[in-house]
Amino acid sequence: MTTLLKNVLICDGSMDRGRCGSVLVADGKIAALLPPESGEKADETVDGRGRMALIPGFVNAHSHAAMSLLRGIGEEAPLMEWLQTKIWPVEAKLRKEHVLWGTRLALLEMVSGGTTAFGDMYFEMDAVVEASLEAGVRCAPCRGIVGDERWKFDDGLRLAETWKEHGDFVSVQLGPHAPYTVPLPLMKEITAEAAARGLAVHVHFLETEWELGYLKDEFGMTPAEYLEASGILEAPGALLAHCVWLSPEDLAGLNLDALSIAHNPNSNLKLGSGVMDLPGLLGRTDRIALGTDGAASNNRLDLWGEMRSASVLHKGQRRDATVVSARQALRMATYGGAEALGFRKKGFIREGWAADLVLVDLDGPQYLGVSEENILPFLVYAGSSADVRCTMVAGRWIYRNGTYPGVDREKILAKAREMRDNLLG
Ligand SMILES: [Zn+2]
Repeated sequence: MTTLLKNVLICDGSMDRGRCGSVLVADGKIAALLPPESGEKADETVDGRGRMALIPGFVNAHSHAAMSLLRGIGEEAPLMEWLQTKIWPVEAKLRKEHVLWGTRLALLEMVSGGTTAFGDMYFEMDAVVEASLEAGVRCAPCRGIVGDERWKFDDGLRLAETWKEHGDFVSVQLGPHAPYTVPLPLMKEITAEAAARGLAVHVHFLETEWELGYLKDEFGMTPAEYLEASGILEAPGALLAHCVWLSPEDLAGLNLDALSIAHNPNSNLKLGSGVMDLPGLLGRTDRIALGTDGAASNNRLDLWGEMRSASVLHKGQRRDATVVSARQALRMATYGGAEALGFRKKGFIREGWAADLVLVDLDGPQYLGVSEENILPFLVYAGSSADVRCTMVAGRWIYRNGTYPGVDREKILAKAREMRDNLLG
């Protein structure tokens, strides 16, 4: 199957400006970058008529997709109270079918906004993978490990074994939830096993100021000392979600080669956790991705919102309009996420890279004046998920003009409603 996406405005997070052109997709990959009026023959041709942008699919680096069933629960409570009194009691009732339908529900929302891959920490993760493969979306699942419960760790290792043959679509990570929920000896065992098996770890890190105090009081450690002592930096990949209370100085002298940070600006704002020092951390590492976190704390699963917030929030906080450019925001939302989740050759529009692509309608009034020169700021500051027309993963359309080929949207909505009623009733 070959597809020619013709006469589109191409841009990605490695480009300072867009470029009119065409893209030939074959065997799930970008086979060629061609001129706008290319006469290349393909099984299918989509003509953007110069009024469509073509961007890489978004990668939601940190989520808990099935929390889509818990949206609206415990609004306006601080993180620890929210978790302990609202979320954890309901999560204790979650069974595999809840996770399956909750993830299917989340995926409807994600792919309609152009998300083509996501990292997910939860439980009943086989259901998450099943829902993702059905939807045609790439997934980096990790079994959340909370407490001193070895069976959860074993379940995470089993998950990796089960799905290792699906490397290009499923990238399993190990998921010790956080330093304050996993005892340090178990954390060390998990990171050692991750290193031995070539797996990455995905950890919540310094989401709240309270956690900074916990590291000091419980372990007598600074964040850097904890990262070293826990073995997190020895894992072949480490994804730290949040890092709201991590300073750039904390990273000085550490080996950051395999470390990625998932910035979740809207979840952090809504839970009142604070603002990560993105401009400062970007001075130390470019391995920064964006995530939504769960729908119960964001409450959207929309990378456009994260991209815009990641850029404007820090300009405002620093009182400096030059920090976190539109290009940097787009790079974090695409390539940065793919890198964090271990997906290779994804996130930029380049020959030989995965055809994980999104067509964005530029016909709306908010795009008047858009050009090759200014397409990046137009997308990041004026664009939104409402502008997404089509989403493709590995050369296959998974969302097209409001429809989901091969997916029964109405059934998912009905069953997800049933699951939510069952949980909350
Ligand atoms: Zn989270």
